[in-house]
Amino acid sequence: MKKYLDNFNEQLTRYLPASRQLFFYWKGRVALYSILKSAGISSGDEVILPAYTCVVVPNQIIYLGAKPVYVDVDRQTYNMDVSKLAEAITEKTKAVICQNTYGLSSNLEEIAAIAKACKLLTIEDCCHGFGGTYKGKPNGSYCDAAFFSTQWNKPFSTGLGGFALINNQTIFDKMSSLYNQKSEPGFKAELVLRVLYFVRRYFLCDSSYWLLLRLYRFLSRHNLIIGSSQGIEITSTDIPDNFFRGFSTAQAREGLKNLKELPYVMELRKNNARHYNEFLMRNGKVHIKKEHFKNHSFLKYPILVNDRKKFFALAEKSKIRLGDWFISPLHPVESGFDKWYFETDRYPIAVELADKVVNIPTDIKNPENVLKFLESNMGLIE
Ligand SMILES: *Cc1c(COP(=O)(O)O)cnc(C)c1O
Repeated sequence: MKKYLDNFNEQLTRYLPASRQLFFYWKGRVALYSILKSAGISSGDEVILPAYTCVVVPNQIIYLGAKPVYVDVDRQTYNMDVSKLAEAITEKTKAVICQNTYGLSSNLEEIAAIAKACKLLTIEDCCHGFGGTYKGKPNGSYCDAAFFSTQWNKPFSTGLGGFALINNQTIFDKMSSLYNQKSEPGFKAELVLRVLYFVRRYFLCDSSYWLLLRLYRFLSRHNLIIGSSQGIEITSTDIPDNFFRGFSTAQAREGLKNLKELPYVMELRKNNARHYNEFLMRNGKVHIKKEHFKNHSFLKYPILVNDRKKFFALAEKSKIRLGDWFISPLHPVESGFDKWYFETDRYPIAVELADKVVNIPTDIKNPENVLKFLESNMGLIE
């Protein structure tokens, strides 16, 4: 166990700001939970986060008895609009979470400066941004703590999994003692993961994508297989049983394998994104500005469409691996937003983006098929 995990830690630190010990967990969200707990977040506190995120992020805040306070996002970056940050800060605010949505960094220097002036901790949600950089420094460099996910579709995968990088010594010490309290993933969970690795490696291709995606989601929704989220995590704010779990050897081994391909995949993502961007620009469609490219690792390329249902149906027919990430401002929650203290009318940009977004794949060898598909459905793209 130790050998694989140590090796994995060592390989990961090549992409990170400091070669120090990382903390590994069953999922990225568990890493965030641990960071918040180590930072002393508790009942009565407020934690600021972007209004365009994954529901498991506010969940961790609520599990600890604190309140998530959202800030609307910026249309270009899909990240927190820094000009709206100051007005969200109260005397109860303890921390700010900023995100690398689709691989694009937040405006980290400005956020860090505001946080410092108000004595707030900063946490970077790097779940989309492992391997990328912001102003020349690796993602994870600018905040007190950062957490990463290695779930199926993240920059590289261990199936499920995640880790934390801590730059603040006080939090680091607390994380270390908390780390001893986690439980093991368990034999059964590890076995299921191994089966899923196999299925993914040998059966996932363009023509099976939609079928396998539906099957996986169906099985995990009914808790018949270990999914990315348990039902309870998207219907309630109660902490699931046996939540605080560590990382298994199977995950470390899978991670070591997939990490080898990362430099190649990162190049592929940037190149494909460049093609998509040129295409959209040429056709007068919404696209990502050139100035963002150097801080963007393009885990996905977001585009906006005006009839998403139709667009998805057409993509499935053309065997395009379209992604439906963040089609809700609290992905993948569809209703009951008030449970997460999310008032839809207060974050109009996040809601609008979530209404219109689809993600086109960047880790593919044949972007021509995607471009052809976009070309023939130009009328649906904003
Ligand atoms: C995937 C994701 C998470 C959670 O990661 P898990 O490993 O699934 O727990 C958190 N934040 C964002 C932005 C994500 O996309």
